[in-house]
Amino acid sequence: MPVEINEDHMIPVEPGQAVGRSWLAPTGHRPMGVTWHWTATWDLALCRRVLGGANAERKGIASAHYGIGRSNAEGIDRYVSLDNRSWHAGRGQTLRWDGRRSNNDTKGARATVGVETVNIGYARPGVAAGDDWIEAATPNSRHVQQVQPWTDEQVAMMIQAGKEIVARWPQIGVRDHHGHHDVCPGYKEDVAGFPFARVLRGIYDDDTIPDVWGPLWLPLKRQKALIALGCDLGTFGPDGDGADGDWGRVSDEAFGRFQQDHGQVDNGLWTTFTCWAVYDAMQERGLDFEQTLA
Ligand SMILES: [Zn+2]
Repeated sequence: MPVEINEDHMIPVEPGQAVGRSWLAPTGHRPMGVTWHWTATWDLALCRRVLGGANAERKGIASAHYGIGRSNAEGIDRYVSLDNRSWHAGRGQTLRWDGRRSNNDTKGARATVGVETVNIGYARPGVAAGDDWIEAATPNSRHVQQVQPWTDEQVAMMIQAGKEIVARWPQIGVRDHHGHHDVCPGYKEDVAGFPFARVLRGIYDDDTIPDVWGPLWLPLKRQKALIALGCDLGTFGPDGDGADGDWGRVSDEAFGRFQQDHGQVDNGLWTTFTCWAVYDAMQERGLDFEQTLA
């Protein structure tokens, strides 16, 4: 059952607010993708106070199109119409919606729909991990974080919002979805561990969409993927093939070469765009992605 979207906290489209009227010419007056975020809050009420309405705490600085709570009772907030721009990914952005280098015209706030999902983020002092938290590495692959899982009701609401987005802007395809940490890798950590495959299969009603993210959340699997694709990671690890789960200089160098060879920005940072490049490279070599990373 769809939840009713709460429009009581829309941000007025006027100077001094974190909204821009309509989409801009460099992207053909339309958004090119969807940037998924986590709020780093426990509830939607705080997200709403920070981002929503005429007098948000971050008034004139940051906003989003949607805020999605953890339960149907919290529901979905709309802060900015899909016809206008919300200011949700600007600072620290180096990549655009397709993984290419970003410039001022293509930064997130000008080019993508921004969706905040209520999630406290990763375990840290004051935020203890639960038994069911997700292990996912940072884009530099050097640290594994424990991330709060998204709830089933929340995933259903993300699918609902996603369906609304692609109904309004049907040019946004499966590969046009990414996390804040994918366009600002090394600067932002949201949304490591995000259930992209579940959400996208729901939005596009297509169970054949591959999960290119989950199997690559951990450094060991990233190393195994590179090795399967012919990269030389030395002789570290129990199998002597270079896969030891400890991402160091040799992994960095091999990964840099992979990025160069596959038309990626050579920044040493593992993103959604990397996941797709690895998946495509395995397809080309006739390797089964899931089996190779099992
Ligand atoms: Zn974010």
